[in-house]
Amino acid sequence: MQFNNAAHTAELAQTLLDWFDQYGRHDLPWQQEKTPYRVWVSEIMLQQTQVQTVIPYFERFMQRFPMVAALAEASQEAVLSHWAGLGYYARGRNLHQAAQIIMTEHGGEFPTTFDDIVALPGIGRSTAGAILSIVLKQRFPILDGNVKRVLARLEAVPTWTGEKRTEETLWQWAEALTPDKRFDDYTQAIMDLGATVCRRSRPNCEQCPWQSHCVAYQQKAVSDYPKSKPKKVQPERWSVFAVLENERGEIFLQQRPQTGIWGGMWSLPQSALQTGKPFFKQGKLGDEGVQSLLELLKMNKACLSVEKGQRLPAFRHTFTHYHLWLQPIKWQVDQQTMGSDKGCWVSLEQALALGLPAPIKQIVESLQDE
Ligand code: SF4
Repeated sequence: MQFNNAAHTAELAQTLLDWFDQYGRHDLPWQQEKTPYRVWVSEIMLQQTQVQTVIPYFERFMQRFPMVAALAEASQEAVLSHWAGLGYYARGRNLHQAAQIIMTEHGGEFPTTFDDIVALPGIGRSTAGAILSIVLKQRFPILDGNVKRVLARLEAVPTWTGEKRTEETLWQWAEALTPDKRFDDYTQAIMDLGATVCRRSRPNCEQCPWQSHCVAYQQKAVSDYPKSKPKKVQPERWSVFAVLENERGEIFLQQRPQTGIWGGMWSLPQSALQTGKPFFKQGKLGDEGVQSLLELLKMNKACLSVEKGQRLPAFRHTFTHYHLWLQPIKWQVDQQTMGSDKGCWVSLEQALALGLPAPIKQIVESLQDE
């Protein structure tokens, strides 16, 4: 355990800062004109997503929502359409909601205390620490996924870093390592070390400023760390997605409820989630599947007879806690007699411009190719 020794942690921090001065990233878009708003948006986008993927999204987002007021005033639909493709859409919804709270409760100014920042939706302890250290130059540690990986290798941590007690220990180490000056540079430095040197796969230990202190490296066991999460088999769910096409070639979309998967986004009508393949008997769509859709759509049953539906290829999409099998079925319907007012009819181009969840976009794009 090397983190109880103040002289040692100070040396580690200084070595990292020296490395950062020479090899760190200094020209990322959110490092120019460093405002709390820009750093906050970048930090949220960077959760679970790599820098190169984030850059174009960040630039488009800043063009459309240059200040917190613009974000707060925008519709949720507009915000999510700028998020489409980044995944983890709750991040976009939380960002929008937090912007509105900043306008109403903080007079449009980004809060400056840890308690106020961490109280905003979608901001955890590490993101709050990053904003406070990078922009407000206050001494707060961070512990994002990259930092967890670096520390787990540095000390050859024998347990999964998401495990509660392990995480508490890592927070103590992150706190001990944070130096008494240059907080902003240190935070950037440890993020850069995780992203560019101590990478998830093929870490570049030969270029690492902490090589001589790294237990995993000394043990020649870098690939053994961090320890993986104990395996759990992900359950599988099925759902039928209705592609309803009217006489003009338009399709019917509905807005998802605000909570749950794809909250607030436009999507195809979908039956309730089922385990296994209950909708299909001998390769045919069974009554339960149609019934579930009809209840949801409040539709004229004749519109969705099993015989008239064209079954499109099913495919699997993976969420954090389960796999979803999507079975799209296409029906040609008469809009006048369909009898549902719970959605809207749009062309395929208009649908794609709405920023659909990735698997729904895949279905719509396959219709374009027909
Ligand atoms: Fe990571 Fe290798 Fe550096 Fe250890 S020596 S911290 S494994 S890059």
